[in-house]
Order: sequence, then structure tokens, then C-alpha cells
Amino acid sequence: MGKGVWEIKAIYPDLKENQSNDSAFVKTMSQLKKYLVPGDYLLIVFILFLAGAIHVLLHQNVAQGETAIVSVNGEEVYRLSLKEIHDIPILGTIDTVHVQTNGSQIWLHGSPCPYKICEKMGKIHLAGELIVCVPNRVLVRILPQKRDDLDATTM
Ligand SMILES: [Zn+2]
Repeated sequence: MGKGVWEIKAIYPDLKENQSNDSAFVKTMSQLKKYLVPGDYLLIVFILFLAGAIHVLLHQNVAQGETAIVSVNGEEVYRLSLKEIHDIPILGTIDTVHVQTNGSQIWLHGSPCPYKICEKMGKIHLAGELIVCVPNRVLVRILPQKRDDLDATTM
């Protein structure tokens, strides 16, 4: 074990200098502390809180979607609420595929396409997510939330 430490010191001969830098940093911090008044700590806490709140708001934008659009060959054929339960046959360009919802998620099953990639995409539920079946020309897209639409029109 002692040999290992010795080797590290051999590789980093300036390790001791770094340590003195560290203590300089600690000194600076303790000096800084003298200049910080209680109000500054409040400000720091407030900024951290604000950052957290913004993070939560941004996260909500990509959270649970509400409405999904099913289109075939680029044309909308169904508009479904993810909060309801559906199992609807959709006629694609090859054959029928089923689009199913369970009250929060949406997915495709029973697809006639060769590799079933659309089925392997699984169940989606986030605003903006989509499932594509290229061979059968079927697209399921969860609409982005209204806040996004507002941002898009006002910006
Ligand atoms: Zn497919």
C-alpha cells in the first residue's frame, strides 16, 4: 500500500504544491465568508430555489401528454385522448394495425410490417413523443402541451 502512494508521488511530484493551492482556496473562502452578510445567503438559497423551480417547469413540458394524433400517409385519421382507453384498427398502406391506449400510454400492436419496429418502440406517453411505422405509413404523435404552442406563437 505504501508503495502505491510513493508511486503516485513519483508520477505527480507537484502534489504538494496542489495541496498548498487547496489551502489557499480554503483561505479565500474563509475570507469571502467574512464579506457575505446573511442576506447574501438568502439570495443564494433563493437562486437555487428558482433554478429548481425552472427545472420542474421545463420538465413538465416534456411530461405526460394528453392527446395523440394517428395519421396514415401524412393524413390525420384519428385524434385520441391518452386518458381514455381505446383499441382502434387503423388501415395503413400494407394492412391493418391496432393503436391502443390504456389511460396514460399509447402503442401499436398487430402490425403487418416485416420487422415490427413500430411495436418495438413500445408504449409512449410523453408530450412530443412519436411512433412511426415506415412500411405501413402509420404515425402516432403525442401533441406537445399547450404551453409550448403558446411559446411558439408569442416568440
Ligand atoms: Zn411497423
